[in-house]
Amino acid sequence: MTGDSAIRSVQTTLVDVPLRRPHRFASLSVTTQSMVIVEVRTEGGTVGVGEAVVPGGPWWGGESVEGMRALIDRYLAPLLLGEDACRVEYLAGKLDRAAGGAAFAKAGVEMALWDVLGRIHEVPLHDLLGGLHRTALPVTWAVGAEPADVAVAELVARLEGAGHTSFKLKMGAEEPAADVERVSAIAAKVGDVASLRVDLNGSWDEPTARRWLPALQGAGIELVEQPVPAWNLPAMADLATRLTVPIMADESLRSPQDAANLVRQRAADVFAVKVAKLGGLSALRQTVAVARTAGVPCHGGTTMESSIGTAAGAHAFCASAGVTAGSELFGPLLLADDLVTEPVRYQDGRVLPPPGPGLGVELDREKVARYARR
Ligand code: MG
Repeated sequence: MTGDSAIRSVQTTLVDVPLRRPHRFASLSVTTQSMVIVEVRTEGGTVGVGEAVVPGGPWWGGESVEGMRALIDRYLAPLLLGEDACRVEYLAGKLDRAAGGAAFAKAGVEMALWDVLGRIHEVPLHDLLGGLHRTALPVTWAVGAEPADVAVAELVARLEGAGHTSFKLKMGAEEPAADVERVSAIAAKVGDVASLRVDLNGSWDEPTARRWLPALQGAGIELVEQPVPAWNLPAMADLATRLTVPIMADESLRSPQDAANLVRQRAADVFAVKVAKLGGLSALRQTVAVARTAGVPCHGGTTMESSIGTAAGAHAFCASAGVTAGSELFGPLLLADDLVTEPVRYQDGRVLPPPGPGLGVELDREKVARYARR
């Protein structure tokens, strides 16, 4: 087995895939999503696929698709050549020692190794991770920081057409008073038929959060994601104590060690876990284990992946007992096209982990070539 599963090559391709509609974050609006597709090929001919992706650009954590590709090609890929692809957690540790930080890049490489492992043993990724705790995951739909009437129109269309009942409203693109007024107007229109949450992406300081979060709570907002900057755990803890609306940590949670710190400081009611920001599936499992041990529910987050990264998330979240707070794996629904022959499936507002071996998706090479950056 080892001879056949020895890694022969690691190949990266940078692709730009158009979105169905522009997606507006606090700091920028994007019309395409870019990914680095990682293909790990073994001596026996098995090819595993991974996706290294950041949400819209380097604003979230400093990594970019261009930087990730250079890091993988120049520093990470050479370390893997000749190694047994099936030793996934060992190789993840090797990548950790070779490059500090760079979670998103390492996650893309590690994802391809998990795919190889599943393909060689002919089992889906969720079975490698202990089997399914749930067969599908509810998906929260994210609406960009759009004017109230635009957001309401999109929300109603998703409610009626795709069966989503939970929605995340991006905030932080305008002044707090106007932003809260906008979200309150949306809640007044659809709050009785939809569950609404907000994501500030850390854009408020502590006094602003203390001033305005009670108003959002009063408007019926059911969860507040990362109201203050990632580093400000004392403020997160204070807000979590003050408010009855749950506070979710996203930017504050980038490693299993962050999870332990958040637990110690009681700084979040819910953890947003993501394959990419945590540096891969091994670290994700460790993070969920910390949360579950401490009784903190986890929410399966997205980095706006195609069906490749979305499949990885769906397998991991469905196989994790601790991911009890739903997901936002909407990436393939926001992309105007996909990179696999059979995109990940959705049913009644829920995402289903693909049944095939490994990630359960097959790269569509014609599409990869079409969207490859030249
Ligand atoms: Mg977030």
